[in-house]
Amino acid sequence: MDLGIKGKRALVCASSKGLGLGCAEALAEAGVDLVMNARTDGPLQEAAQTIRDRFGVEVVAVAADITTEDGRAKVLKAAGEVDILVNNAGGPPPGMWTDWERDDFIAALDANMLTPIALIKALVPAMMERGWGRVVNITSQSVKAPIAVLGLSNSARAGLTGYVAGTSRQVAPSGVTMNNLLPGIHATDRAVSLDTGVSTQQGITMDEARAAREATIPARRYGTREEFGATCAFLCSKHAGFIVGQNILLDGGGVNSTL
Ligand code: NAP
Repeated sequence: MDLGIKGKRALVCASSKGLGLGCAEALAEAGVDLVMNARTDGPLQEAAQTIRDRFGVEVVAVAADITTEDGRAKVLKAAGEVDILVNNAGGPPPGMWTDWERDDFIAALDANMLTPIALIKALVPAMMERGWGRVVNITSQSVKAPIAVLGLSNSARAGLTGYVAGTSRQVAPSGVTMNNLLPGIHATDRAVSLDTGVSTQQGITMDEARAAREATIPARRYGTREEFGATCAFLCSKHAGFIVGQNILLDGGGVNSTL
């Protein structure tokens, strides 16, 4: 299918690895020029060059922490005007509800709620003036069904979800759509680190830890960054202009709900 976005320009945050990289690759395959970002320069430059070589699109790579004001300023300066914004960053650490104080919540809100909102505020007005734009926020299945040890993530992502629900309706008349993609378990570095924790705590092998987690997913496997990226690219396509303010789960059926 021709996604109809060849020649558009996208900022994909936190995209040297994992789900962000999957989104960058799928957009590049559709002919979209990219601004990619991550904190660590080496893997970011490598990912950017691989995408240039594979898809022949322009890629600007900006090493910066997107959750800081300075980092965002650096990325926005390099990005200029974009047609597509994919918001992403690392998730907050796990813990117990008794562990978290005000500063922990402020850090989580800054990273997973206020950073995407700041980027939306910086980039969406020009999309509205041009009459076309796409915003996709990578959140989590924890928005639909809480993951108890991820209380900071549950809280910050729910806040972003509420913001997007209202704001997406305000910008839709100008041809800008805003939606959230909710990953369940995907085979990225984050999944490896979660499995490592389980394997150490329970004294089982990594394969056993993964098999136990796969058994809880109706699809009986982890998702891939490629299928996640393809969904993101579709949401950014010309065909998705009527999808507004939605929360789309990619979880192999992991969240057990009817709606
Ligand atoms: P990942 O494989 O660990 O990749 C994270 C990417 O983001 C890397 O490129 C990393 O590069 C970059 N990054 C992290 N923090 C950043 C920051 N502050 N500024 C700029 N770049 C940053 O993670 P993932 O699995 O793709 O997860 C992406 C998001 O989805 C996370 O918020 C995660 O909590 C959420 N999620 C993931 C899953 C899953 O199963 N994978 C499930 C639910 C939710 P640097 O380290 O070099 O910055």
